[in-house]
Amino acid sequence: MIDPLETERPGKEKRPRQIFELEDTGFNEVPPRYRRFYRRWRGPSDRLAPNEVQCPVCKVVIRSRVELRPGDRVYCMPCMSRLEVVEENGMLVGKVLY
Ligand SMILES: [Zn+2]
Repeated sequence: MIDPLETERPGKEKRPRQIFELEDTGFNEVPPRYRRFYRRWRGPSDRLAPNEVQCPVCKVVIRSRVELRPGDRVYCMPCMSRLEVVEENGMLVGKVLY
């Protein structure tokens, strides 16, 4: 398993997670087999999909094969940060774990 999603939120989930097909994004800051799991943020008009969260450290968008939910832990390979997915103003954001 090379998905950046390392740990799913513990506990029972009421509805199954949506699965996503990931295509290569051309993101070349990580080895080829990991490229589809990251992409560059395209600026203020960019929107995150339900399987995406932005890294607050390097601003790269982290993508998982499954929908992300608050409480999940993800790994940002470009800057080697471990993040927790939290909900802020109805949006999912990444928070650095120390
Ligand atoms: Zn990062």
